[in-house]
Amino acid sequence: MQVNGLHHVTAISGPARRNLDFYTRTLGLRLVKKTVNFDDPSTYHLYYGDGDAAPGSILTFFPWEHAAPGRLGIGETQETVLRIPAQSIGFWAHRLVEHGVAHEQPRRRFGETVLAFRDPDGMRLALVGIPGLETAPAWGGDEIPPEHAIRGFQSVSLMVADAEPTAAILGDVFGFREIAREDSLVRYQAGDGRVAGQIIDLRIAGGFLPARQGAGSVHHIAFRAADDAEQERMVRRLAENHGQHTTEQRDRNYFRSVYFREPGGVLFEIATDQPGFAVDEAQASLGQALKLPPGLEPQRARIEALLPALD
Ligand code: ZN
Repeated sequence: MQVNGLHHVTAISGPARRNLDFYTRTLGLRLVKKTVNFDDPSTYHLYYGDGDAAPGSILTFFPWEHAAPGRLGIGETQETVLRIPAQSIGFWAHRLVEHGVAHEQPRRRFGETVLAFRDPDGMRLALVGIPGLETAPAWGGDEIPPEHAIRGFQSVSLMVADAEPTAAILGDVFGFREIAREDSLVRYQAGDGRVAGQIIDLRIAGGFLPARQGAGSVHHIAFRAADDAEQERMVRRLAENHGQHTTEQRDRNYFRSVYFREPGGVLFEIATDQPGFAVDEAQASLGQALKLPPGLEPQRARIEALLPALD
């Protein structure tokens, strides 16, 4: 069955070890896949998520040891927002300070409490408190009590000069509809909003310079398609109704993807829910071994020698 919403968010980071430490220890996400950048196998591609490695929880990074910092601007994802139970805001405000992570004062946005902070590369993150979430299954790692753990994405906000062309695609292709406006934000929701990753905010930000990608920048966001047939239907709608053409489908081992740059300048991907992250290792041991696609397996020894140590 098709569930609309975010599949994953992919960003650029600095050193891999620092990135791994922040997301698995400080934030308590699960490392669900340790592989390489298929286009540059001398660098990692690290995937974090919830205990099930479910679509809507997957945050991935291309870590570059010497990446220059990015500059936020038009045509980019401004903020990536993760869900926590509403009563856990205090726990997290305290935890971030304890770990030397500066955060902004909690504030209300669309009636919810939001705690904004940055990762070690300056990536803009926030936690949003959602009532009732404390009973949902959770992965907290060794340090986070399950009742406070992060439970996938709530949303991303995209900085665009003009909301309309992006909104048309969100609506017609990905099943989102406008549900609220606040200041310069327009909020779109897919489904009933209860599944992780079903909200996109467009921040209308005329006057900003275009983004420059670097460490701390989101590289692209991916929307869910249940399977190849659903992805094909989305690709056709994009072409017929919006004049947007995607790349050929690429096999990313854990999902199959097409890419296009939406009219607001943000790189969008459509990723299949199939086959998922347990395709090449057991669910219980996800993320523990370095996984390579079959084409790179013959070069494993050379690749392992090039990759920076993670511990
Ligand atoms: Zn992707």
